[in-house]
Amino acid sequence: MQLALCTWPEVDAYLTRSKGVIVPVGSTEQHGPTGLIGTDTISAELIARRAGDAADILVAPAFPVGVALHHMGFAGSMSLRPETFIAAIRDWATSLDRHGFRRIYFFNGHGGNIAPLKAAVKEISAELNPGRTDEDRLECKVHSWWQFEGVHMLCQTLYPEGHGSHATPSEVAITQYAYPDSIKSAPLEPRIAATGHFSGPQDYRAKFPDGRIGSDPLLANPADGEKLVDAAVAGLIVDYQRFIRV
Ligand SMILES: [Zn+2]
Repeated sequence: MQLALCTWPEVDAYLTRSKGVIVPVGSTEQHGPTGLIGTDTISAELIARRAGDAADILVAPAFPVGVALHHMGFAGSMSLRPETFIAAIRDWATSLDRHGFRRIYFFNGHGGNIAPLKAAVKEISAELNPGRTDEDRLECKVHSWWQFEGVHMLCQTLYPEGHGSHATPSEVAITQYAYPDSIKSAPLEPRIAATGHFSGPQDYRAKFPDGRIGSDPLLANPADGEKLVDAAVAGLIVDYQRFIRV
């Protein structure tokens, strides 16, 4: 059930049976020569919508631009500053809280969003919860799609080598499944990208010149993407239902 496709009376009716909502949080950033700029938003949004449809969960619009300052050395990447991101997430949560939502599950698709999302959740709680009864408290959760046990195990099985940590075959596979008309190909040299640490966007580009870290995204295919989405949807439904009972 997508918020954007509901009317306000439908949202009113939903609130009589549930106080929970999923907010997909993505990013707009380079994903190597074969990965889509929107990979992280596409992944979080698709999995959230599938879970929402399967389990009668309201899904808010996807938050499309995250904190991706380290990707700014590559064309097309966009980033919010952490303080802007936190302020915007607070405003989204405050809007939902005002209508009676009391469980907001931030379902994340980008590693760089985790720290600022957790900071935002602390600020939201400090701002909205003082003076409220336990029953009326707003609770927020942050979870990323690759953190579910079933997804983690599937990634290890599908890609025992070359999974890496950025422009991974798993995230690329999900976008190939979501948008089969936008599957890209490009020669990758070396096949498995280097791994290591970086500091800032220039250093990132110098150390990882095509944008990948440790990955071989040519391993990706749409069938893998479907399996990964199914595993993530199953994980999300269980975890969300546990969360809203807190
Ligand atoms: Zn990504």
